[in-house]
Amino acid sequence: MDKFDVAIVGAGPAGATAAYLLAQAGLQVVVVERGQYPGSKNVSGGLIYSKIYHDIFPNFWDEAPVERAIGGHSLVFLGDGASTSIDFRSEEGTEAPYNAFSVLRAKFDPWLADQAEAAGAMVIPGYRVDELLVEDGRVWGLKAGEDELPADVVVVAEGTRSQLLKNAGLREPFHAKDVSVGIKEIIALPEETITDRFQCASAEEGAAYTLVGHTGGIEGGGFLYTNKDTLSLGIVVKINSLYNSKRQPHEVLDEFKSHPLVARLIRGGEVVEYSAQTVHRGGFHLIPQLYGDGYVVAGSAARLLLNNVMTLRGMDVAVVSAAAAAKAIIEAKEKGDFSAAGLSSYEQHFKESSVYKDMSTFKGTYPLLENKRLFDVYPDFVCSIMEDMFSVKTEPAKNLYGALRAAQRENDVSWLDMVKDAYQIGRGIAI
Ligand SMILES: Cc1cc2nc3c(=O)[nH]c(=O)nc-3n(C[C@H](O)[C@H](O)[C@H](O)COP(=O)(O)OP(=O)(O)OC[C@H]3O[C@@H](n4cnc5c(N)ncnc54)[C@H](O)[C@@H]3O)c2cc1C
Repeated sequence: MDKFDVAIVGAGPAGATAAYLLAQAGLQVVVVERGQYPGSKNVSGGLIYSKIYHDIFPNFWDEAPVERAIGGHSLVFLGDGASTSIDFRSEEGTEAPYNAFSVLRAKFDPWLADQAEAAGAMVIPGYRVDELLVEDGRVWGLKAGEDELPADVVVVAEGTRSQLLKNAGLREPFHAKDVSVGIKEIIALPEETITDRFQCASAEEGAAYTLVGHTGGIEGGGFLYTNKDTLSLGIVVKINSLYNSKRQPHEVLDEFKSHPLVARLIRGGEVVEYSAQTVHRGGFHLIPQLYGDGYVVAGSAARLLLNNVMTLRGMDVAVVSAAAAAKAIIEAKEKGDFSAAGLSSYEQHFKESSVYKDMSTFKGTYPLLENKRLFDVYPDFVCSIMEDMFSVKTEPAKNLYGALRAAQRENDVSWLDMVKDAYQIGRGIAI
């Protein structure tokens, strides 16, 4: 074959999904992945949202290497030596079609790539694409080492760094303020310990914690997800705040792990893997043009991610964008037009997706996540109110208003700050 219909960079969720759908439609597809196997280079907390995947890979949970169905979600504020949690448990979350699963990318990405191969795509791991082949502004293929792979369309699904697009002058520069760094550990614990400790009904069920606070005042948060016999624990913090703090990422993670609640949850575990990777902070206003002459961009290569404090969704946003891109490519193939105009329906298909609409609904979360008080004041603030409410002392007790006033004084937050922050929280996640 002297030319593929579609050449794809990266076999992450975006690349593998595009390959699967395009090959299913009968197109000649090649995927080039730099990792020794798909998933070998990928870092992720590891929660996937089931209904989005089910739409593309029906009943995937029957075959895919998922870890646990997540029936419990907790939002936890980590104060100084204290913590306050909002726990949500649902039977529905642990019954088909489920809400979310924990996955380990080193197992899950190969499964996704297998689906693409079974549909007829050629997946080539262990090769790095060095450049996009561009002539007169039109992308016409990939170059990996000495090999050139010409294609009608290139799907750029190379993940957060988006280096190939940058080198080809096909994207705007990314700004440090829009990027975070994720640091993750996989911690081994016996399966029964995890099931009991996280109050799961069985080894098939799991829990997910979103943790706010105790990141050394750096904007960001932590996550803790249960796998079968490991925990995925990590923090995702704003990269320029981390830099300004002059602290090493592992120091911030170690301090995070030293919080009494986190320490109790991981007690007795052995760290079996450590990894770090940049991740976009997401943001509706940051969605770029997703196509050009001869190419489309999907997943985090296009900065697509949704973070609304409760959920961090990069993998399902990636597969939905890839599905929209695949639809546009199939239409372009029918028209025989692979120009930007021919591929432009990608944007329309993406805009019709629930993911895009969710990104729009939560567009106010981005400025909220810029608010430092959310990370270094309110976790303590909430905990000190709880302390007043639950503790019985020898001095007269405070009512809720009194506890609030005391927390305000203790944490140096003015009424005006509180009103502004309440408004921002409302704009970000509630109204
Ligand atoms: C710490 C952390 C926690 C996260 N937690 C979650 C979570 O719980 N849930 C969630 O949904 N999202 C989470 N995310 C975000 C999520 O991981 C990404 O949004 C998602 O992986 C994007 O998928 P993708 O296919 O676009 O890119 P990626 O998964 O990054 O895949 C890109 C692929 O391209 C390959 N590649 C790159 N360059 C080249 C090249 N030049 N040649 C060949 N191959 C190349 C890479 O090896 C990789 O396999 C998290 C991210 C981090 C860092």
